[in-house]
Amino acid sequence: MHVMGDVAARFAGIVGAGNLLTGDQVGEDYAHDESLTCEPRKPAYVAKPGSAEEVSALLTAAAEHQVPVTARGSGSGLSGAARPRTDGLLISFERMNKVLEVDSGNQVAVVQPGVTLAELDEKTAAAGLAYTVYPGELSASVGGTVGTNAGGMRAVKYGVTRHNVLGLQAVLPTGEIIRTGGKTSKISTGYDLTQLIIGSEGTLALATEVIVKLYPRLAHGATLLAPFNDLTQVMEAVPVILASGLTPNILEYIDNLTMAAISYNEQLSLGVPDEIQQATQAYLVVGLENRDADRLDGDVARAGELLSELGAADVYVLDGGSARKLIEAREKAFWTAKAAGADDVIDVVVPRSEMPGFLAKTRELALAAESGAIGCGHAGDGNVHLAIFCKDPEKRRRLLHDIFAAGMAVGGAISGEHGIGAAKQQHFLDLEDPAKVALMRRVKQAFDPTDILNPGVLFG
Ligand SMILES: Cc1cc2nc3c(=O)[nH]c(=O)nc-3n(C[C@H](O)[C@H](O)[C@H](O)COP(=O)(O)OP(=O)(O)OC[C@H]3O[C@@H](n4cnc5c(N)ncnc54)[C@H](O)[C@@H]3O)c2cc1C
Repeated sequence: MHVMGDVAARFAGIVGAGNLLTGDQVGEDYAHDESLTCEPRKPAYVAKPGSAEEVSALLTAAAEHQVPVTARGSGSGLSGAARPRTDGLLISFERMNKVLEVDSGNQVAVVQPGVTLAELDEKTAAAGLAYTVYPGELSASVGGTVGTNAGGMRAVKYGVTRHNVLGLQAVLPTGEIIRTGGKTSKISTGYDLTQLIIGSEGTLALATEVIVKLYPRLAHGATLLAPFNDLTQVMEAVPVILASGLTPNILEYIDNLTMAAISYNEQLSLGVPDEIQQATQAYLVVGLENRDADRLDGDVARAGELLSELGAADVYVLDGGSARKLIEAREKAFWTAKAAGADDVIDVVVPRSEMPGFLAKTRELALAAESGAIGCGHAGDGNVHLAIFCKDPEKRRRLLHDIFAAGMAVGGAISGEHGIGAAKQQHFLDLEDPAKVALMRRVKQAFDPTDILNPGVLFG
């Protein structure tokens, strides 16, 4: 049991009184992330550290007083993993927001966790480089994307956070500060602690510095939009496009209902005639990029031919403005689903060759449950984003269980990029291999012997 005043004084002594919030000073925003199903919970304390040493001192104090700790980047997560405990300490990384170095020679940047992806994009652009992890929400922080192993549209070409973080400075719940990995592109020296921490949803260690991999920014890009009359045809087209050597940097599908909703919300006008729109079941969006304009033109022509051969009703090469608006609208599909009254949004991942069967199964399950499951997703990664419309909580729980089980049965997983958090925890515990969960618990115990980091996330 801790005495709040004493503990608050201890935290304030570490970060400075101005950087500790308690009681009414704690704003609503700190009480939640963007999960649709996790009720907000205001934390007892919000601390805004300015250095790894302060994070270390906070964790040491929290362990001594048995105060549960939740890390927060920008709070844009979709699994409830940044939702604090009411008796807990929320460590907000908003003050640790500096890009420490853009190292062109090694094509890396060294950044503090509170840097947003939009800020990092601006800094790396100046060097002609890019950090290629672009989840739909660019206000997300680098630390948060490490927490969730975020993906996004460009993952089809560049991979997810896991493939783009080379090293970390991290603070363990015991207060120890470690460095993992580095600026090197390879390392084979003991267990890969960087990869263990990435995607651990703030349950193992807190990242206080992140070394990210950068790629050259390619000057020329094009976006193709292909309507198909059959969703299965769209899914069957995906592996063929990936095998063609065109190396798209975006390969997304958007079903007709979602396209209608985002077009209405974002006032998109993409030049697709009404009669084609009416016959369309789903659209494929293909992004291509090149350093050379003529080569890009050649790729666009080949992609157009291929999409027609694969059954597209037509192929539209969007002008720059329309392409940007479409991508932005697709990124905002979550807000559109939320505004339309979606009860949950999930992100099952399956091997991409299983997408046609998995989506057919999902429709069948939703129909049987008298519910809706519509969406869009990172088709190139087999990552399906479904907005679930089902008001009855018990019916919805069973529907989600069945959808997750169907994804796992074909070699997929419950979440491709949003994480388990608190929202999907029960499904994770019900469906995952118990031997794997037990091993994960032992890993957690090794990192966090006093169980102060994000209790209630992943394991319950
Ligand atoms: C409109 C919209 C679109 C989205 N599109 C995508 C998408 O395409 N792909 C995708 O992957 N996600 C997407 N997301 C989800 C979200 O943007 C990502 O999960 C992102 O990684 C969250 O970053 P954040 O800074 O907001 O993290 P938060 O929500 O603050 O935290 C996320 C997790 O990271 C932990 N954490 C935070 N900081 C640290 C740290 N320094 N060290 C260790 N752990 C830490 C937290 O405890 C929590 O477990 C979308 C969200 C929205 C609202």
